[in-house]
Amino acid sequence: MSKKLFIPGPVNVRDDVLAEMTNSIIGHRTMAASDLQRGISKKLQKVFYTNNRIILSTSSGTALMEGAIRSFTKKRAAVFSNGFFGTLWYEMAIYNNIEADLFVSEKGKPISGKMVDEVLSTGKYDLITITHNETSSGITNPMEEISKVIKKYPEIVWLVDGVSSIGGIKLEVDKLGVDVCIVSSQKCLGLPPGMAIASVSEKAIKRARNIDFRGYYLDFLELYETIDTTDYQYISTPNIPLMFAMNYQLDKILDEGLENRFKRHKILGNMVRDWAKKYFTLYTEEDYASNTVTTIENTMNIDFDLLNEELGRRGFQISNGYGDLKDKTFRIGHMADCTVDELEELLENLDEIIGKGNYSEAIAV
Ligand SMILES: *Cc1c(COP(=O)(O)O)cnc(C)c1O
Repeated sequence: MSKKLFIPGPVNVRDDVLAEMTNSIIGHRTMAASDLQRGISKKLQKVFYTNNRIILSTSSGTALMEGAIRSFTKKRAAVFSNGFFGTLWYEMAIYNNIEADLFVSEKGKPISGKMVDEVLSTGKYDLITITHNETSSGITNPMEEISKVIKKYPEIVWLVDGVSSIGGIKLEVDKLGVDVCIVSSQKCLGLPPGMAIASVSEKAIKRARNIDFRGYYLDFLELYETIDTTDYQYISTPNIPLMFAMNYQLDKILDEGLENRFKRHKILGNMVRDWAKKYFTLYTEEDYASNTVTTIENTMNIDFDLLNEELGRRGFQISNGYGDLKDKTFRIGHMADCTVDELEELLENLDEIIGKGNYSEAIAV
């Protein structure tokens, strides 16, 4: 039996979206490919609230994160983290011989503007990374507050991991002044895994021109310029079937309306938080709790694997914790095209399993 996924990516993909992937393959050096890629980029500019150029990458989001920190750090990177994915950017810097320092928020707390100001005021840095929505700890960082601080430091290139937020939680790239914003296909956009997307500012590109070793496949400067010289084509063969699905799904997203989408995610987030608080504790300070993924502290000490097995028999799957939080927390993903009815069904099943005190019976099966 296939399971309905309530994990923080990959997400359920609607059948009509999947069906787009069965269109006949087109050559990647054709006008049809240019049209497809140009069309996708224009739609994505709306989703990102930006006029910056969009680049598509046949890779997952992790690859573009690595490419970005490598392509845009000249002096030293200030990496801010409230969990696994934030810290990943620091590890990538170190593996690529890029100077970087890591700044971690307090447990369950967001990164504050004050924290960023203190670090940037040292003048040691020319690049900063922030995870908009940290998928391990379930925290959404206050980007407007952080943006105000970053705007005081014009030499800073600002990289944002929007992998689990773009399309689910509002992030206005141009208004905030984000230089590079990265997203993966398999999270809030409701697509299969296999591609990543970034918006890239002119300011970031100016920086990249002064950096000697940017790699090849993930060189943002090369990707950026090639789009211009080839009318939206790419250096190597892209994931054409996924782009068919992306082109179609972006229309569906814009038809729903971005604001409606954010509202729906807020409702979903509130539903899960209300449910979780009946039995457990939220890992995250509630004002900053994510509307796309909820991280729940396993204060009842339930056997998570047995819980998920029982859910599996009922046709659902949720997720354990991630990174350091693997055994202390578990997570419910509520992103992409997830509806209120679908989530209600999951929560009813969870109530039946653990709510009515019959958790031990259910797992004894
Ligand atoms: C999933 C995720 C990633 C990694 O994305 P991949 O597409 O799996 O490489 C990075 N950052 C965040 C916040 C994520 O949720």
